Amino acid sequence: MNVLIAGGAGYIGSHCVRQVAAAGHRPVVIDNLVFGHREAVAPDVPFYEANLGDEAAVGKILVDEKIDIVMHFAAYIFVGESVQEPMKYYFNNVVSTLQLLRTMHSKGVKKFVFSSTAATYGIPEKMPITEDSPTNPINPYGRTKLDVEHALHAFARAYGLSAAVFRYFNASGASEDGAIGEDHSPETHLIPLAIGAATGQRPPLKLFGGDYPTPDGTCLRDYIHVDDLSRAHIAAFDKLAEPGKVFTWNLGTGTPVSVLEIIRAVEKVTGKKVPYTIAPRREGDPPALYADSTKAQRELGWKIKYHDIESLVASAWNWHSKHPNGYGK
Ligand code: UDP
Repeated sequence: MNVLIAGGAGYIGSHCVRQVAAAGHRPVVIDNLVFGHREAVAPDVPFYEANLGDEAAVGKILVDEKIDIVMHFAAYIFVGESVQEPMKYYFNNVVSTLQLLRTMHSKGVKKFVFSSTAATYGIPEKMPITEDSPTNPINPYGRTKLDVEHALHAFARAYGLSAAVFRYFNASGASEDGAIGEDHSPETHLIPLAIGAATGQRPPLKLFGGDYPTPDGTCLRDYIHVDDLSRAHIAAFDKLAEPGKVFTWNLGTGTPVSVLEIIRAVEKVTGKKVPYTIAPRREGDPPALYADSTKAQRELGWKIKYHDIESLVASAWNWHSKHPNGYGK
């Protein structure tokens, strides 16, 4: 199948591009390179530098490349910024996505894979989180993703769109060969910050909150390897043959891992100490967030390879040690 990957030069998108090719499909990338890295996409993959809101440009790509499925990873992801600048998030994450869907509709492309988030659940009452848990986002980032989910249901009913919605937990790690990996600017994620603190390239880690009601007092999260995540997306392609359906799947390992456990894993894998200080809690951080992803495993035949946090952190370290300054710097 010909697969258009919007945001294919970003962290998750670029790993998906490689998995799409590995599964025997033909990836085509569109990315405006605001946050993406051209170097993250192999030179032999067709690459269009354009905005998703450019309906003429996107429409031409859909037709010229005979696109069967669109996968959409092009979103802004900073929770704090979404509170400060919600307009930016609504326009990029909602309006541009609606424009992409309208272009698909006008060109008769009816299969869509959407990158959503556990942030759609807000602060859940029970753990692990199943897909039927109430959705109640506590920040504009999560809200924009949920708004798109709602639009997908309406479009499926009205226009026969079929969509796979994936709610990610903590996407982490890097490709096994260390060729591509995580390079956000600014970086806010725990694993790259802890690795940077260990190597001395970044300041000592601020551990946000040591007094949570968890076994070691630090937050519990569910770290899922970016290649495991990507493979689930491709496994969903077959489901999209049925028109007018929206599927929703959590993607996580289901294993809660604390911030201190991540620090210990980084120390073991790198052989270096992670200097850190206990800082106040970060606003909006729930004590524990982890997935029940049995639905994805059952319905997609999805298998998690990186169950063990050390192997996940080792893949991040492999990328980092080969590219200490990220892409092209
Ligand atoms: N965290 C931390 N210090 C940092 C960044 C993150 O203690 O500099 C903690 C954060 O409070 C959360 C966990 O690490 O409990 C994962 O945070 P991250 O930002 O990587 O992902 P999130 O769970 O917010 O999506």
